[in-house]
Amino acid sequence: MKVLAVHPDLIVVVSRFWQTTCTAIRAGDEGFVIDSPVYPDELEAVPEVLEQAGFPVSGLLATHADWDHLLGRIAFPQASLGCGESTAERLAAEPGQAQRELREFDEDHYVDDRKPLALAGIQSLPVPGRLALGPSEREIELHPADGHTADGTAFFMPWLRALVCGDYLSPVEIPWISPDGSIEAYRATLERLRALVARADTIVPGHGRPLERADANRVLDEDVTYLEALVTVGVDAPLPAGRRTGAQRRIHAENVERLQRTVSQ
Ligand SMILES: [Zn+2]
Repeated sequence: MKVLAVHPDLIVVVSRFWQTTCTAIRAGDEGFVIDSPVYPDELEAVPEVLEQAGFPVSGLLATHADWDHLLGRIAFPQASLGCGESTAERLAAEPGQAQRELREFDEDHYVDDRKPLALAGIQSLPVPGRLALGPSEREIELHPADGHTADGTAFFMPWLRALVCGDYLSPVEIPWISPDGSIEAYRATLERLRALVARADTIVPGHGRPLERADANRVLDEDVTYLEALVTVGVDAPLPAGRRTGAQRRIHAENVERLQRTVSQ
């Protein structure tokens, strides 16, 4: 995994798997960790990295309920876990789903040293909303970010000029409409994110390295173009440059299938 000190109060950890990101933010003697890396050794290393850097962990946050973003409790078993209300609802509606998918991943990848994932007692946070942090009452803004899945929250830290948006604006992954996601919601989220990107110096996508504003805007425009083409030309829609890998073609095929099902319903 990579550890990137982006700002004195912002550390981004990038997992070896899917370049999944985990973001630590600090405000005085308080701090939050948003999302998680994937492999057991990475989850074990995160508390050590943050302790060495003097980053306190007052709580955990998750951008959405996909299992690869929910593993923070394995690294910090005692910490409270908060998420937007749409994510809390999804987790309540599908109990055990994240654990099942995690087990499947571990079996597929021969991972046999996984500590149990406990997701009880999740705190549901209002979205849009704000979360106060630290002695100087810094506020994290919570914005709706659905479309990739039915749930989703983007976290914006004005004092760090940093946006942690979940599975959008990825330099390594094309827009992915999950079975419970929606292309209309995805496009609306991109426009909401455009306004937040304009206020940010650092954009941390759910997968891939943190981006500067100009790069995030480029990815955003490419994603808008891709989704437009997905609707108009379907399977022949060109993938964004730099994201034309076999894995992205498989995601594209899923998107096409998903869209056909929506249309035929
Ligand atoms: Zn993800």
